[in-house]
Amino acid sequence: EGAIRAAKLRSNSIAVPDDEAVNAGVSAADKANWGPTTWHSKPIVQDVVYDNEKAVEKALEKLEALPPLVSPYEINKLQDLLRDAALGKAFVLQGGDCAELFDYCSQDRIESKMKILLQMSLVLIWGAKLPLVRIARIAGQFAKPRSKLTEEVDGKTIPSFRGDNINGFDPADRTPDPSRLVSAYFHSAATLNYIRSCLSSGFADLHRPFDWSLSHVQSSTIKERYASLVKSITEGLSFMKTVGVESSTLNTVDLFTSHEGLLLEFEQSLTRKLRDPRDGVEKWYNTSAHFLWIGDRTRQLNGAHVEYFRGIMNPIGMKVGPSMTAKELVDALDILDPDNIVGKVTLISRYGAGKVEQMLPAHIEAVKKTKHKVVWMCDPCHGNTKTSEISGLKTRDFEDIMSEVASSLQVHKTAGSQLHGIHLELTGDAVTECIGGSEMLTHEDLEIRYDTVCDPRLSESQSLDVAFLIADWFQQ
Ligand code: PEP
Ligand code: MN
Repeated sequence: EGAIRAAKLRSNSIAVPDDEAVNAGVSAADKANWGPTTWHSKPIVQDVVYDNEKAVEKALEKLEALPPLVSPYEINKLQDLLRDAALGKAFVLQGGDCAELFDYCSQDRIESKMKILLQMSLVLIWGAKLPLVRIARIAGQFAKPRSKLTEEVDGKTIPSFRGDNINGFDPADRTPDPSRLVSAYFHSAATLNYIRSCLSSGFADLHRPFDWSLSHVQSSTIKERYASLVKSITEGLSFMKTVGVESSTLNTVDLFTSHEGLLLEFEQSLTRKLRDPRDGVEKWYNTSAHFLWIGDRTRQLNGAHVEYFRGIMNPIGMKVGPSMTAKELVDALDILDPDNIVGKVTLISRYGAGKVEQMLPAHIEAVKKTKHKVVWMCDPCHGNTKTSEISGLKTRDFEDIMSEVASSLQVHKTAGSQLHGIHLELTGDAVTECIGGSEMLTHEDLEIRYDTVCDPRLSESQSLDVAFLIADWFQQ
């Protein structure tokens, strides 16, 4: 009683575009039928029910008035880089927490996340001999889809934690609170601000990779390999300096932001009609992040999420799990990429180790027969989540993760295709959430430092292990 589906709420200030509206991301026939709120007419899963309609309206109104977090210029730039990746001319690294918390908005946490992504990119650039596109799951990766909407805590059934922008991790704080939507914006803004400030102050300067020290890596093999790679880069740079070649492009890198576009009320509020600097035409951009993806649970062809995603200019991702058929995949691409833009859609496969050989070849073949040119990315994490019998904690076996990456690389090669990127849940910290890796963590070790509030993440050391595996593949 009194509870309302927030999805029903419409904002007054965001209207469905009229006939004149131009959006290169939507095919001519459907141009007039899309707007940031057209998803309201579609069935939605993983919806949030709030009990205070006025408070939701107030939060969305506030969000609509706040400035964009990212710009069309940056979004287009990422689209261009992903086009390169789809053509095999760049490799993509996407990584970060499963669920970001507002508390992760701190100097140490942000720096350590940037550091691990930069370290991995060095390894990957060295191995793949390709430019690297870095996309962090950060500055907005709050909302989580849940398979179970309730859980048992101390004998009581309570709503599951659904992400800091919806409810709190604290069991006493599980009622969805619309003010968290606004809080999410400000935490994203502060995080992004610190990232931008680090990057413009030389944090990612290639002349200083020794500053990104391997704080928690114990494995001497990894340490030695990393040190020798940094040494060869440093020598190369000093040689260039000696011969008078100095490039300011080495002083910083691009780091793009991303999150799962799950909470559509939030996404619609940050969706703005802005001038595309390339042609001066106003188009719909999601300005909450550079890249957004559709999760494996919300990719229904006729559902609200696919409807929302088909209209935005941003490059987008779609998780491709083991239940997806080749036909569904092609139908989804036809909806999401009606204009066949190279690299517009990133397909993030996450079948589970042992299922790659069975699933991926048919998906590759199906896409090849279309006009869509996608970025093929592998998420070796989500198909391999298990419950540890000893502690009951969610974990992933490093062997399964490596096996899914290796099979994906091989299957693409056999099919005359190419794996263009990797999507990982990781942290720069010395967590004990996934078993195995060069630290050889066991099930017994999980409780030592199990910090995640959702899925288990790779530690700094395990993340580098994955980077070296991919680098070695390219070297062979
Ligand atoms: C995720 O990336 O955190 C996630 C929930 O993934 P998937 O949709 O693939 O299960
Ligand atoms: Mn996850």
